[in-house]
Amino acid sequence: MASPVTPPLALVAPDERPGGPSTAMTGNTDDLRRQAEVVLGDQDIALLRPFGEIRATAPGDVLFDVGEPGYALVVVLSGSVDLVDRSYGVETLIRTFGPGEFVGELGLLTGQTVFAACVARESGELLMVPRSGVQEIIATLPAVGDLLVTAFAANRQRLMRSAAATLTLIGPETSHGIERLQQFAMRNRIPSRCLDPADPAAVALLERLAPGQSADVWVVVRGQTMLANPTTFEVARAIGLDLTAEQDGPVDLLVIGAGPAGLSAAVYGASEGLSTIVVDEFGIGGQAGSSTRIENYLGFPSGISGGDLAFRAEVQAIKFGARVTVPRRALSLAREDGLFVVRLDDGTTLRGRSVVVATGVRYRDLGLPNEETFVGPGVHYAATELEARFCRNVEVVVVGAGNSAGQAAMFLSGTASTVHLVCRGPDLGRTMSQYLITRLEHAPNVRVCTGCVVTAIRGRERIESVTIANAQGGEEEIPGRAVFVMIGADPHTDWLRGTVSLDEKGFVLTGPAVTADGAPAVTSPFQTSEPGIFAVGDARSGSVKRVASAVGEGAVVVSAVHGYLAATRGTDGQGLNSPGREQPSAS
Ligand SMILES: Cc1cc2nc3c(=O)[nH]c(=O)nc-3n(C[C@H](O)[C@H](O)[C@H](O)COP(=O)(O)OP(=O)(O)OC[C@H]3O[C@@H](n4cnc5c(N)ncnc54)[C@H](O)[C@@H]3O)c2cc1C
Repeated sequence: MASPVTPPLALVAPDERPGGPSTAMTGNTDDLRRQAEVVLGDQDIALLRPFGEIRATAPGDVLFDVGEPGYALVVVLSGSVDLVDRSYGVETLIRTFGPGEFVGELGLLTGQTVFAACVARESGELLMVPRSGVQEIIATLPAVGDLLVTAFAANRQRLMRSAAATLTLIGPETSHGIERLQQFAMRNRIPSRCLDPADPAAVALLERLAPGQSADVWVVVRGQTMLANPTTFEVARAIGLDLTAEQDGPVDLLVIGAGPAGLSAAVYGASEGLSTIVVDEFGIGGQAGSSTRIENYLGFPSGISGGDLAFRAEVQAIKFGARVTVPRRALSLAREDGLFVVRLDDGTTLRGRSVVVATGVRYRDLGLPNEETFVGPGVHYAATELEARFCRNVEVVVVGAGNSAGQAAMFLSGTASTVHLVCRGPDLGRTMSQYLITRLEHAPNVRVCTGCVVTAIRGRERIESVTIANAQGGEEEIPGRAVFVMIGADPHTDWLRGTVSLDEKGFVLTGPAVTADGAPAVTSPFQTSEPGIFAVGDARSGSVKRVASAVGEGAVVVSAVHGYLAATRGTDGQGLNSPGREQPSAS
């Protein structure tokens, strides 16, 4: 345990911190403050008392320290406590909590180690509620539980905003390594900031923690641990996000993939009493997590960022007791002794009574170095009304030779001034329906460039031009404002080959498509060729590639999972609701 700090500490506003504010979150600051800075009344505190222990404190007592796992919820009954950020090599006060206030953050539910230290400022009395007590409160006292969960989530978002207290990435902001780690931090709501190696704050950290050493990318974890060129897995482990995948016993439901479909299955599974683990190789949100604004999702008339939607879903899932384990990649799935065994890339295995595959797809990209930076403001993988709105009277480029590219080009010709349809092959006839080719030929503002490829996208905050090259080496720069990449999507299903039936493109076959001759009809549209394994969302053959449909499928599949578990109850000796069945903690 680190030595106690002596108050008073200097209050540093988030935006004044080295590295400046994170732009990772959007949202209303006042709402977050209101949700985070809750003062519990006497009645609420009386309800919480049976779940914790009273502790008397003196100034300087450390109640929990940076990096500790299993820390307690601290409810201030009298006196005050400080939450202290130690990630900048100096101690910085995040906030002081007085009577009725409580110190708690999302990590209390996820099992993540703690970002900051909590130190008594004045003598007083505290109620210390262990993590198990917090889980019990959420399960049994919905009103207070909701208040706590909302405050925990708001506190995490505020930490994200201030980029306080967790990761400092040191390296050139444009490097692939930094970009990958920033994406990982953003997707998993890990507070982070990025420093150029020449920044005096970076120089000081390197001198203190890695004198004389060199690396392309450094990650400083909570101002204490320095990692050289780490993988996302190593970063996750260092901050305690890498939750243990080990189990005491099998869970009812293993969900592979934490995009909209997987998160939905986890929320509905856990809320309906199934012990549930969700695994994702990268982080929560899937493709939707990379969308800056989803405008066609029910209930959000002015849109919601995919990251925010995923974060809300994750909080909801863990509130109901699902365990979210990232970053872990499923490598294989097999049936052993009536259970499903998923082998993960860190060598561990997960066992479950049923599996929902929600591993989605990856849209093929053009492979241009700066393509990713324009995803959202200019590079699109779908052409709907949403995207078309930004193409009014400008030139756009559609890449591809299939029907989706042809439909996109026709659709966009209604709003764009010119549509350049770029395809690598010598003609469209082999890949596109004739009716579309005829329409394209007759559309006055569609120009078909066969035997061509896009070689560069230029611009700063938005696309300013697109370079097209032909097979003869000729190049042309088009003042295009948007690029629609319609060259197909590959399902993430390699890990399932030989386990369940896939269609010719590798998507998982489900429902009637897997009913063998003479076999009883499959009752769920999401059942794969292997009873007990279900598939939902974009990875499923014939799925509608939308957030709402993925979420809907994730919700509906849970009733089929219940049906399967009821039918097979007891076959592994520990069926649903039987003694010894693992109830994963809300981590
Ligand atoms: C930029 C962009 C914008 C979009 N905008 C919209 C929109 O506005 N409206 C709309 O309706 N749709 C939109 N879509 C489509 C929508 O996001 C998808 O249809 C939806 O995300 C599909 O959800 P899913 O859960 O099935 O799969 P995904 O979102 O693809 O999630 C799959 C998850 O599985 C994980 N995974 C894959 N393999 C493994 C493995 N072996 N082990 C562990 N984890 C694994 C991945 O890391 C990923 O997180 C957009 C897509 C993109 C790319």
